[in-house]
Amino acid sequence: MSSKLIDGKKISAEIKNNLKISIDKIKNNFPRTPHLVVVLVGNNPASISYVKAKEKACQLVGIKCHVERLSEEVLESDIIRYIEKLNQDDQVDGMIVQLPLPQNLDEEKIIQTISSLKDVDGLNNENLGLLASGQPRFVPATPLGVQNMINQLDFVTEGSKIVIIGRSKLVGIPLALLLSSKTPKGNATVTICHSKSKDIGSHTLSADIIIVATGFPHTLKKDMVKKNSIVIDVGVNRIEDKSKKNGFRLIGDSDFDEIIDIVSKITPVPGGVGPMTIAMLLENVTKAFYINNAKKL
Ligand code: NAP
Repeated sequence: MSSKLIDGKKISAEIKNNLKISIDKIKNNFPRTPHLVVVLVGNNPASISYVKAKEKACQLVGIKCHVERLSEEVLESDIIRYIEKLNQDDQVDGMIVQLPLPQNLDEEKIIQTISSLKDVDGLNNENLGLLASGQPRFVPATPLGVQNMINQLDFVTEGSKIVIIGRSKLVGIPLALLLSSKTPKGNATVTICHSKSKDIGSHTLSADIIIVATGFPHTLKKDMVKKNSIVIDVGVNRIEDKSKKNGFRLIGDSDFDEIIDIVSKITPVPGGVGPMTIAMLLENVTKAFYINNAKKL
């Protein structure tokens, strides 16, 4: 069974090792290390734990990470002013705003305030536009992580059929652009399904790779999967589990236990896409460092 698992922890550990080597070189030749600022608003437990993981990973590879913790009551204008200050700060290479934001804040307006040259989450319209036009600069970390995982497998995307369930700006759309791009890691025929799609199984049953990113457990069921296909489960859902110390466990969007017997490869949750997302964020920060300091290097 374990040979079927795509081990995101292992793949991401290699990426982080290589990044650490690159960042050590930066430290030897430049007065400072790459610097990420994370804006965290409120007390959402999942967001707090994601930010902790990002902080820890930055520390591991040598990226300076500052977390700006803001109260749930913070004014939108104050967040915007803070981001504008960071946009001007040449000691900051990249920034992210941890999502979701509290309901009263205009998420889109806040994200679009981030300079496109520091937008290491790749959510700024300019960066999404560059990806769509085949000239990617910052690509959202989760799609990059999924593409990277696929590249680690003995699988050629060119000419393959890939179905993505979910069309968010953070996952589904950029992933579809990456995998259908005219590049050696792309060239797939990509179908996007969403909540209004009818009979999703009729699409997934002929797919070589199914990527599920809906945020709902049991979206991908056993009878929707072709034998020997590959399943990448992006979903992260907290399910109550009294046997756990923290009272919950994490599951994905697919019926993992039933699907694993059918597929050739599948990502576990946790330990699949999650660690890849963090590794790709670190790569984006390092890329931002090079972009923003090109004249000084
Ligand atoms: P999102 O913005 O809520 O988007 C979900 C997408 O799924 C939407 O396009 C929605 O369709 C579609 N959808 C919902 N229910 C569906 C159904 N029953 N059948 C088909 N499509 C359905 O979520 P997201 O930000 O993309 O995240 C998706 C999941 O991935 C979440 O569990 C999130 O926690 C997880 N995630 C994990 C990582 C990681 O690093 N592991 C990173 C990012 C996200 P409509 O467009 O029609 O509403």
